[in-house]
Amino acid sequence: MLKLIKNVQVYAPENLGRKDVLLIGDKIGAIEDEITLQTNLQNIELIDGKGQFLVPGFIDAHVHITGGGGEGSYHTRTPELMLTDATTSGITTLVGVLGTDGTTRTMASLIAKARALEEEGISCYVHTGSYQVPVKTLTDTIENDLILIDKIIGVGEIAIADHRSSQPTMEEMAKIAASARVGGMLSGKGGIVNIHVGDSSALLSLIEKVVEETDIPITQFYPTHINRNQALFEAGIHFAKNGGYVDFTTSTVQRFLDQGEVRCSTGLKKMLEAGVPIQNITFTSDGQASLPEFNGHGELVGLQVGKVRTLFQAVREAILEEGIPLDIAIKVITENPARILKLAQKGTVSTGKDADLVMLDPQNLTIQTVFAKGKMMVQQEMAIVKGTFEE
Ligand code: ZN
Repeated sequence: MLKLIKNVQVYAPENLGRKDVLLIGDKIGAIEDEITLQTNLQNIELIDGKGQFLVPGFIDAHVHITGGGGEGSYHTRTPELMLTDATTSGITTLVGVLGTDGTTRTMASLIAKARALEEEGISCYVHTGSYQVPVKTLTDTIENDLILIDKIIGVGEIAIADHRSSQPTMEEMAKIAASARVGGMLSGKGGIVNIHVGDSSALLSLIEKVVEETDIPITQFYPTHINRNQALFEAGIHFAKNGGYVDFTTSTVQRFLDQGEVRCSTGLKKMLEAGVPIQNITFTSDGQASLPEFNGHGELVGLQVGKVRTLFQAVREAILEEGIPLDIAIKVITENPARILKLAQKGTVSTGKDADLVMLDPQNLTIQTVFAKGKMMVQQEMAIVKGTFEE
């Protein structure tokens, strides 16, 4: 099946100007100034892209696809992600993670959910483990999980600097990173260690110590929630300027912002102004996570659910309100996570890559059309493909 998008402004993420883009099956077949097909095939779908922007499909590299949470007992376990939650948010690639609960949430169900989302039309990978150390793997080791299980591309989220963390030592963290590194090398995968950083004053010190005292490179770690408070944000700037990756969490509630969480859009601007290379920065939504609120005694006082739609909302805000150019800002949810996670088919609009694409209205940057592996999932802001149990 061929689809031809005519006259669309392509941000690959770099601005390629106005182009015709040919989709052949699930791949991008050609990007040219003008494509005319010398064929009388009936099954060519023409899509008028005039006046619209075309960007790579978004990658949300930290989502609790099976649900997460549970910090306020069983009834606070959050629900699973639905297909259209992702597609209507422009997300065509997900990385699923467990979270605080590594007991009732298992690697087996995480992989099954990732496969379900694949069957429904988008791309989905997972990390092995949960907050806990020792890491609860699917097979017997982190190396085996990475080398033998296609869907597993990294480790995490392992919690540090948090009262919910299993308080790993420097040696334990070094061993995890070493396993992830070798497993990633032998499988051609990213093999990164996704680190949940909590609210404690320990900040990033544990992983900084591993980098200082071992041969593990700083890029083995991928700390998230870097904008959760001012002190961690500053530590994140330091970490990224030393070559590390930093990931912002876009799901939030007003109270968190009032308490000092750094808004993603302004945080991105500040990091760039501080001299952090854009290549080292990503955004993820933490979708379907519980957003638990604890008082000073560590007691749960409130709970909400993270939303994947915040992923592009935050980027959109960075563009429209902070004046960061589209071709720069969009990298944090496309090219950058694809490179960090070694998802070679993802993250850019280029010939031979997966046809994961988003068309945006140029005025207000609303998501108009979404293609996942060449299939139209969203048309004129409406989901045209539904998940198995969606109305
Ligand atoms: Zn987390």
